[in-house]
Formats: sequence, structure tokens, C-alpha cells
Amino acid sequence: MGKSFNSEFALKNIAILGSTGSIGTQALEVIRQNPDRFHAFVLTANSNAGLLIKQALEFNPEFVVIAEQSKLDEVKSALSHTETRVLCGQDELCATLERPEISLVLTAMVGFAGLIPTLAAIRAGKDIALANKETLVVAGDMVTSLAKEHGVKILPVDSEHSAIFQCLAGEEQNPIEKIYLTASGGPFRGKDRDFLATITRKEALKHPNWVMGEKITIDSASLMNKGLEVIEAKWLFDLDVSQIDVIVHPQSIVHSLVQFRDGSMKAQMGLPDMKLPIQYAMAYPERIENTFPRFNFTDFPNLSFEQADKTTFRNLALAFDALNAGGNMPCVINAANEVVVAEFLKDRIGFLKMSDIIEQCMSEITFIPDPSLDDYLESDRITRILAQELVTNSKL
Ligand code: NAD
Ligand code: MG
Repeated sequence: MGKSFNSEFALKNIAILGSTGSIGTQALEVIRQNPDRFHAFVLTANSNAGLLIKQALEFNPEFVVIAEQSKLDEVKSALSHTETRVLCGQDELCATLERPEISLVLTAMVGFAGLIPTLAAIRAGKDIALANKETLVVAGDMVTSLAKEHGVKILPVDSEHSAIFQCLAGEEQNPIEKIYLTASGGPFRGKDRDFLATITRKEALKHPNWVMGEKITIDSASLMNKGLEVIEAKWLFDLDVSQIDVIVHPQSIVHSLVQFRDGSMKAQMGLPDMKLPIQYAMAYPERIENTFPRFNFTDFPNLSFEQADKTTFRNLALAFDALNAGGNMPCVINAANEVVVAEFLKDRIGFLKMSDIIEQCMSEITFIPDPSLDDYLESDRITRILAQELVTNSKL
């Protein structure tokens, strides 16, 4: 199994976890443009059977995996005339990731659900193109040390981390002094807490520069996304928290910067388009041609930078606190955040309430300094229960 073409490049068989999402569909667009380089070997989705079937009919993967059991029959019968095998659930997904034909696993599912499949892919020796930042937030120590043990590369897909990764090319001998993660500031940049208290789901879902899945769009509005990215950067680049800074850059053209020990800074720039970091991770270490729109200086005569407002956007300060505390605290902040974002999206809590509940979870859940995988699973489980209770007891 696994196609191979008579070309100067080996065809890369890729497993896309979360192929029906924003990152997943953009990765398939990259494959569509480069059929002689990439083959979608595995496609997975949570519950969007219709789109998964459509993708399977176009890309002919060897396997599709649907997480939700109730959708299995629908996918099976729609693909019964094809050679694609249809599987269901996390265990079957993890076993499939061991297939020798797979060389890269793109983790593009959202949330904590990415942790177990990512660990399975690393144990199977597969390089990871990592979009699912929550995995590194929850268990960055475990994921990065397992990757080292298995000689597996973790290639960042998140645009800021891809930017830093690109700036580090050719700098293997040169330690990082500091990194600056850029943040657009989201739709509520410059607003105060009185304003934030009134905003709705619809307003929060309008990101100025990026079109993304709903969870990360809310995280971007609350600056939790940047907080999660600070933690992600710590693990990807082996940094101390004092080496990571956040700078607001509303145009989203400079995707992040690295400062070296001589004070020199390198930045990676380009129009905001996730297909570029996705493609870079998929083709690494090569850069491949594409027809994506090019940056034009006259369209952006001013690029501006300002301090992030951690007092108004408390989630960013809380994420730094979680990183400083270490242990299971980043897992707790992630779980609480997943719950409050889902509840905010259902109009069940207000925007500012999200930070209150996250903070309360951080102070109430038992701190574990050196967690095992079971500790992470348990911390995630009990934090969700507590956060849900706090939502139920809170008034909008
Ligand atoms: P999305 O909501 O658009 O898509 C999520 C995908 O994951 C879907 O295919 C869905 O079916 C699948 N999924 C969801 N829950 C699942 C579960 N429990 N089990 C299995 N599959 C599940 O999300 P997105 O915006 O594409 O983001 C995906 C990941 O990439 C997130 O971790 C996000 O933080 C990260 N990321 C996204 C962007 C972006 O531009 N969208 C940028 C940087 C990083
Ligand atoms: Mg990002």
C-alpha cells in the first residue's frame, strides 16, 4: 500500500488527524496542489461524516477513521465501493498510525483529544507536523522527551512557531537569547474590561486576520491562544519562561522573531495564510513552489508593535502563571479553558467569566509537580468536572 511515483522526490504518505477542520482542509489543499509529493494515507474526523466521505472520495486514502461511533455506518456504506478501509475510535486510530508507509502525522484535531494519538504516533517513530498545540500545553515534557527518545522530529505548524523554526534554520550552533511571539491582539485589541463584559459569541468569532476553527478563534479573542503558544514555544524550543515575550502586531505580517546572543534579530514575514506553515512542515526541510498571493509593501506601509495588555486580557497572565508553576498546571488551565470556551460558544457564560473560572480551577485542583500520563488524564478529567460546575453555578 502507499503510492509511489517515478519522480525525483519520494512521495510522502501523511496521516491527517482532523482532516475536516480548518487546518486539515488547508493541508488537503496543499496535497491537492502537490499530488506527486504528498499522499493522504489516513484521514480522520470527529463527527463530520459528510465532509470526511467527500475527502475520501477525492483523495483515496488507505484509511479513514471517524471518532464518533454513531457515524461509522454512514461512512462505511458511502465508501463501500472504494478501497478505503473505514475505522472508528481512538484505539483503531492509534494502531493505524503504526503503518510503516506513514512518514508524517499532521495533528490538526482540536484540544486534549490530540494527546493520546500524538503519543502513539511518536512511539511508532513518525515525524509530527504539530498544529494541535494543546498537546504540548498539557504534556510538553512528556511529548518532547518521548520524541527525543524515538528520534522523531516535531515540526511546528502554528504560524508563530513555524516562523521561529524557520529563523533557526542554519543557526544550530547559536543559542537563542529570546523569542518574541507576535499576536494580532484579536478583535478586542485596545478595549477595556467594561467593553469585554458585554461582548457576544458572534463578535468574538470575528477575527481580524485569520479564519480558523471556533475554539482557537475564541482563544485568539481572549488572548488564551497566545498564552497556549507561550507554553508551546517553551517545549518546542527548550526555553526558559524568561526567554519568551509576546508583542502585539495587529497586521499579522511578522509571524514571530528570534533574538540571538549578539542582539541580532531574525523575523519571518509573509501574508497571513496557514497554508504556508502547513506546507513548510509537510515539505521540510525543502521549500516548495506555490501560487499563494505574495506580500506587497505598498499594501502595508506601516507595521506596528505594542505591548500586550495582560491586565485586561487576564488569560495571557494566567498562562504565564501556569508555565511558571509547571507540573500539571498547564494541563489544568487547558482543560478549564476547553470547558469555558465551549460554554461561551453556547452563550452560557460571559466573556470575562472565562478567566474567572480558569483561575478558580488553577487554585482548587491539586497541584502535581511531576505528573505521569495517568496524572495528566486525571487532572484533565477532574478539572473539566470542576469547570463545568463553576459554569453551572455562575450567572452570566
Ligand atoms: P477545527 O475545529 O476547524 O477542526 C478540528 C478538527 O479536529 C476537525 O477535523 C474535527 O473533526 C477534529 N476533532 C475535533 N475533536 C475531535 C476529537 N475529540 N477526536 C478526533 N477528532 C476531533 O480546528 P482548527 O482551527 O483546524 O484547529 C486545529 C488545531 O490546530 C487546534 O489545536 C488549533 O489550536 C491549531 N491551530 C489552528 C490554526 C488555524 O488557523 N485554524 C492555527 C494554528 C494552530
Ligand atoms: Mg498561532
